[in-house]
Amino acid sequence: MENVDVKDVFKQLYGADVKSVYKAPARINLIGEHIDYNGGLVFPATIGIYTKCYFSKRNDNEIHLCSLNKKKAVTRTLDDLEKKENSWENYPIGAVYTLARNGFKLDKGFNMLFTSEIPMGSGLSSSAAILDLTIYTLKSEYNFDIDNKLVSLLAWETENKYCGLSCGIMDQAIIALGKENQAMLLDCYKYKYDYYPFNLGDYRLLVMKTNKPRSLTDSKYNERVKECDIALDLIKEKYRHANNLCEYKMDEIDKIKSILNSDLLYRRVLHVISENQRVYDFKDALLKGDLVRVGKLLNESHFSLKDNYEVTGAHLDTITELARKQKGCLGARMTGAGFGGCAIAIVNKDNIEEFKKNVKEGYSKILKIECDIFECEIPNGVGKDE
Ligand code: ADP
Ligand code: MG
Repeated sequence: MENVDVKDVFKQLYGADVKSVYKAPARINLIGEHIDYNGGLVFPATIGIYTKCYFSKRNDNEIHLCSLNKKKAVTRTLDDLEKKENSWENYPIGAVYTLARNGFKLDKGFNMLFTSEIPMGSGLSSSAAILDLTIYTLKSEYNFDIDNKLVSLLAWETENKYCGLSCGIMDQAIIALGKENQAMLLDCYKYKYDYYPFNLGDYRLLVMKTNKPRSLTDSKYNERVKECDIALDLIKEKYRHANNLCEYKMDEIDKIKSILNSDLLYRRVLHVISENQRVYDFKDALLKGDLVRVGKLLNESHFSLKDNYEVTGAHLDTITELARKQKGCLGARMTGAGFGGCAIAIVNKDNIEEFKKNVKEGYSKILKIECDIFECEIPNGVGKDE
């Protein structure tokens, strides 16, 4: 949707002009899946599709919100920031609540209109985008002394404590701190990060959206978090202390297997520890320009998420299998929480059209729904829309 149209809608809705526009990109995770909440290393990058926030301040204490995606408008006040069950407004209202809880109180209300190209519930993190974006917008407009790292921490607090999803810091961090053409190697436990040029030469990063209707993701996500907590407690008690599962290494896996005495918990831990190692290997391969190895690591990550962590499902398995069979594809894996959502693939630029055609045809034949495939740029994180 063109900017000018949205500004007209804003004026019609609120009887006021837009003062400023901000935007936040989506993200993918290259590798390091389901280990952010286990203190592991993850390797996300922003992708060039955006949620935008059109903003103006009010003279009263009312909060007027509207999402063009949800086609829903909501009015609240600064004194009424309670959570509402199953409502999208929990994201922006939760952000206001968290800001106030941390001493950043708004003196006046505001109007906000959201539009988004980021599909919701597809694993590209529309949730962290809208949270980072709301906090960034408010800190800019109310002159709060909040840097981008703090933006991500406040967004994370909101998603965990207010919205109720026990997630790690990865999504909020990359969307707040992402840099053009760079991937971010992020230690979620210490919240330390470095940037690495994401240079694929003749190859391109493709996002493949399964369009699987969403089911069970949140409950299964929380179930995996719990399984990892149980495993960590057992290993700490019977083997050696660590602050999180990613502090254990692959050469300890046999010992850990005997302690856990549970095939299910063992497979969960095997995924976590091996995935953390794959992140280091991926970084080394990327720095060396060894793209064949990069692709292989993507595949290995997917197989571990499928067989050991059990978070893939038919849609993600089919789309990545089809991708791997195509000419010029170095590797493919699911990205995000799983159970549907999106996968990524690295494909030679000369084979992209053929790749898209074959994967789309094969996918709809097997699963009776269409998938979307698009090429991605890596832009800067949250900021003002110029
Ligand atoms: P993901 O982060 O993978 O896209 P989530 O379930 O974590 O999926 O977040 C999706 C939810 O975030 C939506 O159901 C909605 O409540 C909220 N949300 C995200 N973007 C928007 C938007 N542009 N407008 C309204 N709500 C949004
Ligand atoms: Mg999310």
